[in-house]
Amino acid sequence: MPRINIDNSEEIMIGDERFVLYLPEEQLQARIKELGEEITREYESKVPVFIGLLNGSFLFMADLIKNVALDCEIDFIRLSSYGDAKISSGSVKMVKDLNCDIEGRDVVVVEDIVDTGLSINYIERLMENHKPASVKIVSLLLKPESLKYDAKIDYIGFKIPSKFVVGYGLDYAQKYRNLRSIYVLSENSENGV
Ligand code: 5GP
Repeated sequence: MPRINIDNSEEIMIGDERFVLYLPEEQLQARIKELGEEITREYESKVPVFIGLLNGSFLFMADLIKNVALDCEIDFIRLSSYGDAKISSGSVKMVKDLNCDIEGRDVVVVEDIVDTGLSINYIERLMENHKPASVKIVSLLLKPESLKYDAKIDYIGFKIPSKFVVGYGLDYAQKYRNLRSIYVLSENSENGV
């Protein structure tokens, strides 16, 4: 079976494409700790429901709530995503719905990366139908230059350029989610930007 280096190597090759270390594990964890502390302060005396968007947000969700010192609940939604391509298909549909009732609840939507904003725009409208008391969005990554849809992100881990990234939950053709750090497609690769 193929083995991959899940530690913080400086670069990884995926086929003939080169990805370079962009956000190392320590930097991710330090920022996630700050986000968790900020959410803890802002949701004092509340019991928020964290709703993760599968699959990409599963590691971020886990590390984020480990830094939230409050009673809280979790659930997950899954939208159809890029499939195996590196560019957005421009359409979105729900593949897995909520399993809990969020009416009157304080919801924090947990996303791995906001690119065009299409998914978050869809989620914001979907959440409104469930009549929660409040909805805030936290995204580990945001590509501000790629935004095409109206999407209000309340907590942002890192703003990054419009380049393709993998690792820490983010996939390349469904693989490489288990990398502990985030890697960016090198400029020299065929599909690099
Ligand atoms: P949006 O709907 O904002 O255009 O895209 C959001 C989704 O696209 C993310 O949840 C993620 O699944 C995928 N995505 C966007 N940019 C990247 C990227 O650079 N790398 C990976 N692996 N997925 C991305």
